[in-house]
Amino acid sequence: MNKAVFNQALLEFLDASPTPFHAVRQMSDILDRSGFQALDEKAVWQLAPGSGYYTVRNGSSIIAWRQPINYKGFSQGLRFTGAHTDSPCLKVKPQPEMLRQGYFQLGVEVYGGVLLNPWFDRDLSLAGRVTVRNTQGQLASHLINFKKPVAIIPSLAIHLDREANSARSINAQTFLPPILGQLSSKADFRALLKQHLADQGVDDLDTVLDYELAFYDCHKAALVGLNQELICSARLDNLLSCFIGLQALLAADAGPGQVLICNDHEEVGSASACGAQGPMLTQWLERILPTEVNRYEVLANSLFVSADNAHGVHPNFAERHDDNHGPILNKGPVIKMNANQRYASNSETSAVFRHLAEQVGVSVQSFVVRSDQGCGSTIGPIIATETGIPTVDVGVPQFAMHSIRETAGSDDAWCLARVLQRFYQTRDLRV
Ligand SMILES: [Zn+2]
Repeated sequence: MNKAVFNQALLEFLDASPTPFHAVRQMSDILDRSGFQALDEKAVWQLAPGSGYYTVRNGSSIIAWRQPINYKGFSQGLRFTGAHTDSPCLKVKPQPEMLRQGYFQLGVEVYGGVLLNPWFDRDLSLAGRVTVRNTQGQLASHLINFKKPVAIIPSLAIHLDREANSARSINAQTFLPPILGQLSSKADFRALLKQHLADQGVDDLDTVLDYELAFYDCHKAALVGLNQELICSARLDNLLSCFIGLQALLAADAGPGQVLICNDHEEVGSASACGAQGPMLTQWLERILPTEVNRYEVLANSLFVSADNAHGVHPNFAERHDDNHGPILNKGPVIKMNANQRYASNSETSAVFRHLAEQVGVSVQSFVVRSDQGCGSTIGPIIATETGIPTVDVGVPQFAMHSIRETAGSDDAWCLARVLQRFYQTRDLRV
């Protein structure tokens, strides 16, 4: 795969993944086509050396891996890449229907740290998971995606809000309910979902019992800039890293044990059954390496690369970064450091990452937050704390993190994928 093909596939992946459920479905489809075998967490697993597998939890978190080519391969440790499948968004409330001035609206709940301003005046669609009961009384879940614009959150005109450019703050309860059209009486949202599912060919439906649905921007992912230097899309944080990790895993030759884990719920703290702070990874490790002593030996020889986007220095707001630690888009992946352990990188794990990047001719940047500002965090410190695996936090630099449309560089994702491919194939990571 070259960079142009990689970026084209990335744009398609972003557009096809409006929710974590869709992202995991996309990744599963790609893994199926690449000869990886799906394993059910409810079943007993039979694993063959050098073969690829994946398992899904809650439809929104996934672990994909290739077994080492022989048992001795385990003694070299496992190569982990981690990312998260979720992005901040607006989710539909359980009883969302509102009819005001003849406008049909849905109540929404803010998921994660949404940058709210950019959600106004966008053509919004709706996607997620719906769980239904059929006429035989059986329950089943379906992914749905309306694909077309079905809603909008109009701004208030500046004439009615003279302070809009200088002092606007957003009330998440009252400002955000999107308008879905004009009706004479309140519609039943579950009945609308049932109709949509029937239109999509799901027959035998009795009742829509529940759903997890989010609004998303219909604007497609695109390459932007005079020389297409930029990638603009929703959910770059952190579907970009999910895609990079997946492509690196698929491109790598079998050798050491290679693992990609993409968890849901990072944007709300990772504490859930399928989040990075939950037991998904440790339970997986117990299945792959049932003996405790053996497991600890393997993990001590392992490395976890936690991939999540970094804040690129914005030319209009350069003072928000430390002068010496402002990552520039298209100047390479970023190693994130924090003395207070908001990132898990240490001098040895970051040195291994630098060493691997040098081997494939990729330059690396450093991010440290300004000393007078608080630092964000990601799954790296959680994984390191839960498992004890040496970890490095890295990521592609981007602008506008948590906006409805984010911007990254069109070289960096490809560069990080090459470093991770090298990482997956490297047998000896010892310092
Ligand atoms: Zn993130």
